[in-house]
Amino acid sequence: MTDSPCDLLVIGAGPGGYVAAIRAAQLGFSTAVVDEHAAAGGVCLRVGCIPSKALLESSQRLVAARSELAVHGGVAGEIGLDLAAMMKRKDRVVTTLTRGVSSLLRKNKVDHIQGRAKLGAQVGESRSVLVATANGEREIRARNVIVATGSRPASLPGIELDDDRIGASTEALAYSEAPERLVVIGAGYIGLELGAVWNRLGSKVTVLEYLDRILPGADAEIAAAAEKIFRRQGLDIRLGSRVRGASVRNGKDGEHCVVEIEGADPIECDRVLVAVGRVPISDGLGLKETGVATDERGFIEVNERFATSAPGVYAIGDVIGGPQLAHKAEEEGMACVEGIAGGYVHIDYDEIPGIVYTEPEVASVGKTEEELREAGIAYRKGSFPFRAIGRARATGSLEGFVKILAGADTDEVLGVHILGSHAGDLIAEAVAAISFGASAEDLFRTSHAHPTLAEAIKEAALAVHGRPIHM
Ligand code: FAD
Ligand code: NAD
Repeated sequence: MTDSPCDLLVIGAGPGGYVAAIRAAQLGFSTAVVDEHAAAGGVCLRVGCIPSKALLESSQRLVAARSELAVHGGVAGEIGLDLAAMMKRKDRVVTTLTRGVSSLLRKNKVDHIQGRAKLGAQVGESRSVLVATANGEREIRARNVIVATGSRPASLPGIELDDDRIGASTEALAYSEAPERLVVIGAGYIGLELGAVWNRLGSKVTVLEYLDRILPGADAEIAAAAEKIFRRQGLDIRLGSRVRGASVRNGKDGEHCVVEIEGADPIECDRVLVAVGRVPISDGLGLKETGVATDERGFIEVNERFATSAPGVYAIGDVIGGPQLAHKAEEEGMACVEGIAGGYVHIDYDEIPGIVYTEPEVASVGKTEEELREAGIAYRKGSFPFRAIGRARATGSLEGFVKILAGADTDEVLGVHILGSHAGDLIAEAVAAISFGASAEDLFRTSHAHPTLAEAIKEAALAVHGRPIHM
């Protein structure tokens, strides 16, 4: 490959990178993707979206078997926990999917190279990329390069991640036993999802959040309702808790951790999960030497076509900032490649849904009530609780509600926020509605099958017009 340059080299085989590579191959580009890990799929498949959802599913099934089976007439003895089996299943799910992505790359004739890549000089029409592989350094030349190197966990001053007792999500996806006392720092996506997993598996989980609310960025009413439910489930959520440090100490009973909080007593625990956001992986890539500009936090700066300040170099996904979500990275990967091929590039970030996969789930798309108020946009609001929905009664998933925000004059759907079982699947209808510029009336005039949880969306849309049927 050193002789003739390929059309596209992608650095990073996460959801942004591998989707970009496959789309490029579909468009007839000779394409290679480099990742330092042998397993394709990036953080999302290896240590992110997929393993976390596998553990959320397994732990929720355990809770359901213990506390819900009896009411359905199921009779079981004591239900124990085989954590090793649960972890093995999670690993199997991950392996199946990472192998699946490798085979998709092969099928599309994308050259998948394992190694650590660094941008080199522009030589004529192509860019040199140096890849440190197990067999030494290899030079690849490419007419276009997409940097899709993703992100890694952020830490806090005063905290040294030791990748064991004081760790981030990767460690918390693989504890060998449920810690008796787990302190989670941050009540965002990771803190709440993995906090829920270990709470269900028997740990006493304390969640320390610096702000006076959970899930910053989510609709405040939905977040407050979710917080109440999570507290009832056993999470000890302490708001307004700014963590100043965490360290491992040796006491008479062996090692333990101490977490220091500003203005409050320190907390002793067995493990600490630091979940205070993620930072871009933009170091060691030769960006400065190549003329690729980053902002003060290290995110790569791009224009509307995902082009960086260096010719022929593009960037997508977590490394450019914005919502750090797999589907956002995928959209960008696809759009960037279509742009390189001369096509139209457009992503409306208001149409990117966000989902927290707790039980109940929290899903949203579009504007929150706070954002509409702040922007001075007049809106009407319709809410509908799941407890008034037949299917929710039948399944026993009564918690939560759907909230729809529509333009006061236009009736256009501007935001949809759902707290409830399967909210992450239900939100797809709202995403389509917002993408197509639908009105609340369009939503309620659309037939919704009965009995389904989706009927709550129809009722909330009716409620925007003050005329729900079942309330
Ligand atoms: P990544 O997936 O981070 O992939 C980048 C790849 O590049 C990695 O494999 C990395 O090793 C490689 N790389 C980096 N530097 C180099 C280099 N110099 N040379 C070669 N390779 C390199 N998002 C969701 O949408 N839904 C979820 O449910 C969800 N759950 C999550 C749960 C957890 C615990 C975590 C941590 C994240 C979760 N996310 C979720 C976020 C999601 O994983 C990321 O937004 C997504 O993976 C970003 O994709 P990406 O392609 O930008 O980068
Ligand atoms: P986050 O941004 O979702 O939440 C971080 C939380 O930590 C915030 O609530 C913040 O106020 C709090 N915090 C910051 N400093 C603090 C301090 N000193 N003391 C106490 N609290 C503090 O970040 P995350 O949970 O680490 O997740 C990282 C990213 O990964 C997310 O933003 C999300 O994009 C992605 N992710 C997505 C999913 C999903 O889609 N279901 C799941 C996991 C992760």
